[in-house]
Amino acid sequence: MSFQAPKGTFDWMPPRSEWALAVRDALSAPARRAGYGYIETPAFEDTRLFSRGVGESTDIVTKEMYTFEDKGGRSITLRPEGTASVVRAVIEHGLPGGPLPVKLWYSGSYYRYERAQKGRYRHFSQVGAEALGGEDPALDAELIVLAVDGYAGLGLRNVRLLLNSLGCRECRPAYRAALQEFLRGLDLDEPTRQRIEINPLRVLDDKRPDVQSQLADAPLVTDHLCGACKAYHEEVRGLLSDVGVSYTDDPRLVRGLDYYTRTTFEFVHDGLGAQSAVGGGGRYDGLSEMIGGPPLPSVGWALGVDRTVLAMEAEGLLTERPGTMDVFAVPLGEEARRRVFTLVAELRRAGLSVDMAFGGRGVKGAMKAADRSGARYALILGDRDLEAGAAQLKDLTTAEQTAVPIAEVVDILKGKFS
Ligand code: AMP
Repeated sequence: MSFQAPKGTFDWMPPRSEWALAVRDALSAPARRAGYGYIETPAFEDTRLFSRGVGESTDIVTKEMYTFEDKGGRSITLRPEGTASVVRAVIEHGLPGGPLPVKLWYSGSYYRYERAQKGRYRHFSQVGAEALGGEDPALDAELIVLAVDGYAGLGLRNVRLLLNSLGCRECRPAYRAALQEFLRGLDLDEPTRQRIEINPLRVLDDKRPDVQSQLADAPLVTDHLCGACKAYHEEVRGLLSDVGVSYTDDPRLVRGLDYYTRTTFEFVHDGLGAQSAVGGGGRYDGLSEMIGGPPLPSVGWALGVDRTVLAMEAEGLLTERPGTMDVFAVPLGEEARRRVFTLVAELRRAGLSVDMAFGGRGVKGAMKAADRSGARYALILGDRDLEAGAAQLKDLTTAEQTAVPIAEVVDILKGKFS
């Protein structure tokens, strides 16, 4: 019997896996530079955290959660998203008593039982950032700018920002009622009719052409914002423009989670086909109270690592291998192998990326491995060289070979990469 990765999952293997690491690093770097501290929460939580936090009527909760009973009889769910856990942790540890906002970032695996296709997996990776306990348009704008800078740091040029406001407790009810009235007059199937009563905003997000074609005249949330929400949104937009971040107003952007209020945004990439969202987020002022915490107006985002790698591929950015070797060492003979082993350890301790040929391969196979490693130099040492006290250093880009004294190998190579 042989096994394969479960449906909807895949393995990150080298060299592509290097890009997953590079993406996690680049997407989180701007947040780390902006004072966001690292948080790590469990991969599973009490199921009720998500049913309350994400929303009973969402696709995530009704169809996509990996839920099971543990041996203690508790209902446990593999996390389908990161925000609810972060808010739970902050409430649990009492951080709202300290200086606000609490700014946190995270990176990890998430699980949704989705219809698997390219860009949509059952196990995927996100980098997230959340600012909790702050109601300030500058905080919403800060997070958006950090994400924009994260994508730019990877060289991505075709990520577009869609921006909307979903209103607040004050103005959303009237909009909801107006939308419900409009939707009830349409020709929709029974599950969609039920959705109108539970969460009408989500009908706007229905991708089916026969639904979309009926929504052209649907009332827009932006026409129903209260004065405070309007002013808040204008301020966010102004701050984004001030720092040169361009965006498209998208009054139909509602996103798939119930907890959003006011600012909502999504980053899309046009080279990805149907699964075009590379990241998204927004303000969630009511989430803390929904899961039993104090009022904690907050804003955050989650950026998809898998789709960001696909976006880089679509822009032709995966050509250069990240994290290549500096030196590949080739020992020829038993004595030489021991000396090379020590030289390799010393070079690594000096901060260079170094690999060597293992398994006593012949010179041909070893040089092939050196070429394939992408290393800049091959360090070749035979038993005869040992007697002469000199190693061969071959520049693999020019094929030029020079003899260097073994005692000076580490210093010479260090000098070449300083
Ligand atoms: P969401 O929490 O659904 O807004 O997800 C935020 C980001 O995570 C999305 O924009 C995607 O880039 C990524 N993402 C969400 N679900 C999946 C999935 N099933 N497979 C791959 N990436 C996903």
